[in-house]
Amino acid sequence: MGLPVGDMIIPVPDTEQTESFDRDRLRRLDVTDDRSAAESFRLLFESSPVPMWVVERSSLKFLAVNAAAVEHYGYRRDQFLNMTSLDIRPAYERQRALDDARNNFTKDSGEKDWIHNKADGTEILVSSYARPIKYSGKDAAIVSVFDVTERRKQDARIKFMAEHDALTGLPNRRLFLELLEDAHLQRKQNPSLWSVILVDIDDFKNINDTLGHHIGDNLIIAVANRLEEYMGDRGIVGRLGGDEFAVLLPMLVDPADAHTAASELVKAFTDPLKVREYEILVGVSAGVSVGLDVSIDAATMLKNADLALYKAKSDGRGVCRVYEPHMSLQMIVRREMERNLRQALAEDQFEIHYQPLFDLAARKEIGFEGLLRWNHPIEGMIPPLAFVPIAESSGLIVPIGVWVLEQSCTLATTLREDLKIAVNISPAQFKSGKLVEAVSQITESCLLERTSETVQILQDLKELGVSIALDDFGTGYCGLGYLGSFPFDKIKIDRSFVKDVETTRKSTEIFRAVINIGHSLGLVTLAEGIETKEQLEFLHALGCQQGQGFLFSPAIPADEIAAELKLEGNFYSNRSVA
Ligand code: GH3
Ligand code: MG
Repeated sequence: MGLPVGDMIIPVPDTEQTESFDRDRLRRLDVTDDRSAAESFRLLFESSPVPMWVVERSSLKFLAVNAAAVEHYGYRRDQFLNMTSLDIRPAYERQRALDDARNNFTKDSGEKDWIHNKADGTEILVSSYARPIKYSGKDAAIVSVFDVTERRKQDARIKFMAEHDALTGLPNRRLFLELLEDAHLQRKQNPSLWSVILVDIDDFKNINDTLGHHIGDNLIIAVANRLEEYMGDRGIVGRLGGDEFAVLLPMLVDPADAHTAASELVKAFTDPLKVREYEILVGVSAGVSVGLDVSIDAATMLKNADLALYKAKSDGRGVCRVYEPHMSLQMIVRREMERNLRQALAEDQFEIHYQPLFDLAARKEIGFEGLLRWNHPIEGMIPPLAFVPIAESSGLIVPIGVWVLEQSCTLATTLREDLKIAVNISPAQFKSGKLVEAVSQITESCLLERTSETVQILQDLKELGVSIALDDFGTGYCGLGYLGSFPFDKIKIDRSFVKDVETTRKSTEIFRAVINIGHSLGLVTLAEGIETKEQLEFLHALGCQQGQGFLFSPAIPADEIAAELKLEGNFYSNRSVA
């Protein structure tokens, strides 16, 4: 803003002359014609588009104001000249202005922000520069004023947008991390308990899938509102991204309070949320970490809460868990396993072994069930139970599943036409949406959510000529409900029932009931885990049509199947004790 007045003492005409300053005359004035310092000053002062004035040091009276100031503030020039620079400030700013004046009549002020009032009372935020001058022989300051109200509002808006989530208006990850850092730093001065609770909506993808993204978005807003309502001013709620929220409890008396707050927070979702025309019941899971002093930093607090959240999810969802150190170790093991699985897929360490399936009446093989094996170069054979759950939760089951399908389909094309290959399909593969394209022959899946998509996928598969079996019937989550909900062709009865089918009445009756249900629904029943001839005879007598188990054959590598099929007879006569 370099005004050319510098520190010079300006030979200003008397006040009367200044007041009767003629703008028109000034406009007509040719600067090059009038080189006197006073005229130059007046020209620049008056024609400046920036509001400017000169104030007297001792009284703070306005000695001169320019046209831009008159226009911007709404006071007439004569009003201005009867006022002091305190009169254009709200009362709470006046002392600061007085203090400031004491210094700035002796040196440049630099840029300063002030609140001013216009004539109509509007408050504006201004940025001003003041520089000492002599004016009509008086100690004074010349001040230029920039109205930054709009710019600051805009800056504040931009800052708000950068720090808040657009959907919910909550602090976003970036701001929340800053708040955590602040909370952590405060522990330096004042060691005390604090806590972070991570909250993640359970099965939120389902809401998106069934009701659409728009309702999903509105549900996120409803969850944000409920979290804020519930926390009140006890904690700060942020949205870290997706369906994940975080709560900072900056001050706690007892570590147990964090757990109490988190479990109550989970319970706060037992009532449905109103989202448009829907009443939606969603659960949330929560992970809690508690810190005491500076030894646990913000990032660690968040990481620990995340591990606890992971535990809450794997413990069945809808619960809260508090971080414990062993969770870190479990996570390290899990990460290592994920890395190894990825490598296994890349380096072809997986194998599929095929267990023959038999028709119990014809005593003849009808196909094979492909079973995944991991032949680790150092550890040797790793059983599926040790790695499939991690492959499922990490999503690696999808590419592994595609590989299994490819291998099995390739094998199927080399077999006799009457032989079918069955492979296990994980729910994650259904959710991936690519299944129908990837398949030609499949059986079984369990733990399916009854969404219209799942039913459609199964229908599409059936149209491709694929038979579908319900695995592990009677165990875990697989029960009668599935039979009514999905278009199955076959029920596989879990080996645990076969084990003592002839010896305990209960198992016998369960078997009989399942076989009857199968018959009446037109479904084939297959018994897994047949190990003895007695079991075979017994099951056959009960009406079970198909079976597999060590009595006939364990799962064998693909090349052995080919060799075996070339032999006279069949699998049954070659392998079984019949
Ligand atoms: P889990 O119980 O394991 O948490 O299962 P989930 O289905 O809730 O899965 P997860 O938390 O891993 O995934 C959250 C999903 O939220 C992923 C994404 O499709 C969806 N999502 C993320 N951000 C938004 C958003 O802004 N709006 C909507 N509608 N959906 C979102
Ligand atoms: Mg979720």
